[in-house]
Amino acid sequence: MRKQIAAANWKMNLTYQQGETLTDELLDNEYSLKENHEVVFGVPFPYLGMVAGKTANKKGFYVAAQNCSNKKSGAYTGETSVEMLSSLHIQYVIIGHSERREYFNESDQMLAEKVNLALDFGLTPIFCCGEPLAIREAENQNEFVEVQLQESLFHLSAEQLKKIVIAYEPIWAIGTGKTASSQQAQEMHAHLRSVLAAKFTNEVADEISILYGGSVKAANAVEIFGMPDVDGGLVGGASLVAAEFAAIIRALK
Ligand code: PEP
Repeated sequence: MRKQIAAANWKMNLTYQQGETLTDELLDNEYSLKENHEVVFGVPFPYLGMVAGKTANKKGFYVAAQNCSNKKSGAYTGETSVEMLSSLHIQYVIIGHSERREYFNESDQMLAEKVNLALDFGLTPIFCCGEPLAIREAENQNEFVEVQLQESLFHLSAEQLKKIVIAYEPIWAIGTGKTASSQQAQEMHAHLRSVLAAKFTNEVADEISILYGGSVKAANAVEIFGMPDVDGGLVGGASLVAAEFAAIIRALK
């Protein structure tokens, strides 16, 4: 059974104290998480230890870094290696978010290196892909996203690929309040799964959790997560409000 995941991406928001309060409020809620449900807090680097401490004994709760270096270690001032994350018992790392691709010029090749390092050190990459508005308007989104997978994931073995979580995040829907319709999300997720099945096998493609990201909120999560190929969400803005994200966690199918 595929994992169903509600992943928060706090981005560069909240002070340490606000992050503590939000984490406490979320952990104080009651959820009836199923065996295959996971909640992941994607928090800024300085808060990783704090959130990892609070979630350590909470079944189904995990922590993600929002980025990692594509270098293993060494003289790279300001960078954070996956080995460092692993030594803090961080289980997930978001790789290839569109904001990193766009503002920090992260290339497909660099993302492939990050994916390799994350897997080497036992972290689960949440690999983000998704098209800009112009590509969607030209109806080239399927090809665009396919190339993103090819360039950063297709060198992996089937066994390695099975350890990856994919997040489909159409750029035009991120932080814009404009959500892909549940039908648009389903179509793309089914496409991604068929691309993975063609390169690997149906069995491998069926095991990969594919999250939707782009203005998910409490009000639309049940419908979007209810689609057969959508396995939860990567949530930005709505993950900063405890009541909203708690409702999104409860929307996992
Ligand atoms: C994101 O940053 O991954 C995201 C999906 O943001 P938002 O939910 O705010 O659109």
